[in-house]
Amino acid sequence: MVWDKNLTMTVRTRIAPSPTGIAHVGTLYTALLNFAYAKKNGGKFILRIEDTDRERYVPGSEQVIFSALRWAGIPHDEGSDIGGPFEPYTQSQRLEKYTQYANQLIENGKAYHCFCSSERLAAMRKTQQEKGELPMYDGLCRKMSQSQSESRAKTEKFVIRLIAPDSGNTSWIDAVRGTITIENKTIDDQVLVKSDGFPTYHLAVVVDDHLMKISHVIRAEEWISSTPKHILLYKAFGFKLPVFAHTPLLRNPDKSKLSKRRNPVSVLWYQEQGFLPEALVNYLCLMGWSHPDGKDIFSLEEFIKLFSLDRVQTSQPIFDLEKLRWLNGSYIRQKSDADLLNLLKPFVPKSAKKQELIGIIALIRDRIKTLNEFSEYADFFFQAPKVDSQILLKQSKLEAEKTGMKLLEYARVLEGLSDTDWKMPNLERAGRQLLDDRWSPKQLFMSVRVALTGKTVSPPLFDSMEILGKAQSIKRLTRAAEILTHNHI
Ligand code: GLU
Repeated sequence: MVWDKNLTMTVRTRIAPSPTGIAHVGTLYTALLNFAYAKKNGGKFILRIEDTDRERYVPGSEQVIFSALRWAGIPHDEGSDIGGPFEPYTQSQRLEKYTQYANQLIENGKAYHCFCSSERLAAMRKTQQEKGELPMYDGLCRKMSQSQSESRAKTEKFVIRLIAPDSGNTSWIDAVRGTITIENKTIDDQVLVKSDGFPTYHLAVVVDDHLMKISHVIRAEEWISSTPKHILLYKAFGFKLPVFAHTPLLRNPDKSKLSKRRNPVSVLWYQEQGFLPEALVNYLCLMGWSHPDGKDIFSLEEFIKLFSLDRVQTSQPIFDLEKLRWLNGSYIRQKSDADLLNLLKPFVPKSAKKQELIGIIALIRDRIKTLNEFSEYADFFFQAPKVDSQILLKQSKLEAEKTGMKLLEYARVLEGLSDTDWKMPNLERAGRQLLDDRWSPKQLFMSVRVALTGKTVSPPLFDSMEILGKAQSIKRLTRAAEILTHNHI
């Protein structure tokens, strides 16, 4: 077993996502950092599902999370789906543990039953807000005698609250941010068990991190305000504290918290768009961390070797889709043709033939930034385009009839080429023969491009024609000529 030098403990990290519908990019980012830290220190990375908030629970989202991590190549050593020495790893299957631990706190005088109605709590909060005070529980039920509390608990609904100290400070040395200190008087008597008997996040997370022997709690900065509550709970239980590390939140380019409104946040979306998992993971490595040699492109193995929590920046990392697209394009270009053929499978029409695909991939591999751009560049190979005569005439800069005639002329010349001569240089030569004072190369070849592809931007024209084949190329030129003449009779 490998021990962390400074801490003389086995490193065990975790992510604890709540199954609320999607696998969030932020969760993947946290997973990456936890995974890297565990692997770097010869430790274990755990995946726990925190599904005690039944109102936010979306059935099936656990699977979405497992599959996102699998796709990203960030495997866990123990978890809800694969089990492990501390199973179950799904909180809804551990409910009796939380009750047992909460009751233990009551017995030790560290927590109490609270019978206050929601109306009383709302009124209290309102008064406090009006006075400009922090909304906090006023501690009414804390003062109740134990016997009274116990007898009321037999017949009434209650929550269980932790007794938070009224004075002093709670502080910890955050592995990313240094010392953080919070005044205890600002910490509420937090609810540990809700009136439906379910634990709150605070209780469940502390009990599980303790029972699962988590050594490092590496999570997003949005949890900083919960950490003092957790520390008070660790202390109430007499548990050893883990190391806390609060990593920066990913931001939209306008610095707001990464959100659906500005950026896609679901890992599945990136998968469906044809981002490569290694590119997305590489990009996430650059969030709040930089390679010591300033490199942008590096492997996960390299990241693991170099990663340390004290190099994580607290400044707000911007998740920039354009930069990610650029990086993804670089990863695509590094792939072999055979790998790319495989990766593109879900993005190409089922009817596409392998040989034809190999040719198309050679033409577009340097242009696409995501795999789904394949269709943007290559759909015309599989389906005759709708040709817009206006777009075509804009390129030819001549009347419809003359343009149509020229396209037919080219079609006729092409007819004369045998199948074995149907090669890019011959196709270009045949076209060049038709140039004259009225037809510059640009006018003619752009017109041909629109006739064949329906677009003004396409992969190289004559290479594309070679793949498209003789019959199809001639058919499309003839069809475009027809469209021009019909529209302009
Ligand atoms: N269940 C919390 C979440 O949804 C876990 C937070 C933590 O890591 O403590 O992210």
